[in-house]
Amino acid sequence: MDAAEFRKRGKEMVDYIADYLEKIDRRQVFPDVEPGYLRPLIPDCAPQDPENFEDVFKDIEKIIMPGVTHWHSPYFFAYFPSASSFPALLADMLCGGIGCVGFSWAASPACTELETVMLDWLGKMINLPEEFLAGKDGQGGGVIQGSASEATLVSLLAARTKTIRQVQSEKPDLTEADIMGRLVAYASDQFCATLGTTPCCSFDKLLELGPICNKENIWMHIDAAYAGSAFICPEFRHLLNGVEFADSFNFNPHKWLLVNFDCSAMWVKKRSDLTSAFKLEPLYLQHHHQESGLVTDYRHWQIPLGRRFRSLKLWFVLRMYGVTGLQEHIRKHVRLSHQFEHLVLQDERFEICAEVVLGLVCFRVKGSNELNKALLKSINEAKKIHLVPCHLREKFVLRFAICSRTVESTHVTFAWQHISQLATDLLKTWEQNHHQQ
Ligand SMILES: *Cc1c(COP(=O)(O)O)cnc(C)c1O
Repeated sequence: MDAAEFRKRGKEMVDYIADYLEKIDRRQVFPDVEPGYLRPLIPDCAPQDPENFEDVFKDIEKIIMPGVTHWHSPYFFAYFPSASSFPALLADMLCGGIGCVGFSWAASPACTELETVMLDWLGKMINLPEEFLAGKDGQGGGVIQGSASEATLVSLLAARTKTIRQVQSEKPDLTEADIMGRLVAYASDQFCATLGTTPCCSFDKLLELGPICNKENIWMHIDAAYAGSAFICPEFRHLLNGVEFADSFNFNPHKWLLVNFDCSAMWVKKRSDLTSAFKLEPLYLQHHHQESGLVTDYRHWQIPLGRRFRSLKLWFVLRMYGVTGLQEHIRKHVRLSHQFEHLVLQDERFEICAEVVLGLVCFRVKGSNELNKALLKSINEAKKIHLVPCHLREKFVLRFAICSRTVESTHVTFAWQHISQLATDLLKTWEQNHHQQ
C-alpha cells in the first residue's frame, strides 16, 4: 500500500468506524460464537503472496465482527466502562503515524514532554496535592502506564527498592537477600488501598490508613482505576481526601474519561523513588542532555523499555471536551446508575447490595445464590444486554455498570424492564420446581 492508497483506504476505514459506532445499538451486544470459532474461518498460515485491501476489509464483517463483544453498545453494562471518543481515536491514529518509541527524552522529545504536562493537567483537574505534580522543578510527576495492574506492580517494586536501601543504610551487614526475605506487604482481599473497588465500587478510608502508613514508614499506593475520573467533579472530590498521605496514586482515563485504551495515569511524590528502582543505562541509551538533571527518561518509570505516544490521546480529549464536557459525561453516568437503582428499589422482589456512589449498581433477587445465577444466565443468554456478576461476602450479586458513552435513560429503562420480565419468567418455573421437590 502506498500513500495514495492509504489516503483512500484511510477515509474508508474512518467511515466504517463511524458507521460501526453510530449504529452499534443494532448489533447484538454479545456474540453467538463458540470457543474455537475463528480458526476454521481463516487459512492455516500467512499468505505467501500479498493480498489486496478489499479482501482483507471484507473479512472484518465476515470473520471478526461475529466474534466481537460490543463494549460501546448502549446495551453493554458489564465490567467497568472502556473509554472511547472520536478525538481519542484520531489521536491514536496520529500516534501510529508518528510511530516513535519514546523511552527517553531524546528518543522523541515531544512524546516525553507532552506526557509530563498532560499528567500535570490531569492532576490539577482532580486537585491532586502539588507534591504529585512535576511543574517546572517539582520532585513528583506523572507517567502513563498501560494498566492499573502495571502501576501497582511498579509501586510495589519501587517501595521494595526504597525499603531495602533504607535498611541497608542503617544495617550495612545485611545483604539484599536478607532484607528481601523479611519485607511485608499489607493488603486486603481487594489488594491495595483502593478507591472504587472492582466488585462493588467501595472506598477505603484513606484518612485512617494514610496516617498509619506514614507513621510506620510504609509506602502507600492508591488504586482508583475506575473511580478516579469522577474526581474531576467537585461533588465527588471528597472521596480522594487522604491522597496527601500516599506515595503513589493511579487511575485509568481509559475507563471513564473518554480516552481509549490504554492510558493509565500514575503519579508519585518522589520520582527518584521510581528512577532509582528502574534505572537502566547502557551506552546506546545515554544522551548528552542527561547531565543536566532536567530531562525525564520515562523508561526509568516503567517495566517495558518501549512506549507509545499515548499522551496525544489525553491532549486531544482534554482540549476537545474541556473539563466541563468531561464532567457532564461523568454526571450523566452517575445519574443513570441512580435511575437504575430507583427502578430496582421499586420492585420488592429485588434488593440493592452496596451503596450506589458512582456508575455501578450491585443488585440481586432476594433469594438464593442459585436463583441469582439462573437469572444472570437467562439475561446473558438472551443477549439483549450484557452483565457480569460478583461476590459480596458470600452473596452472588449482579453488577449493572453504566458503560457506553452514548447510553441514555431509555436504554436503562429497557434493560430494567427486560431483567424484570426475565425474573418473572424465572420465578414462575423456579417456584414450580421448588414445589415438586
Ligand atoms: C479495572 C480495575 C483494575 C484493573 O485495571 P487494568 O488497568 O486493566 O489493570 C485495577 N483496580 C481496580 C480497582 C479496577 O477497577
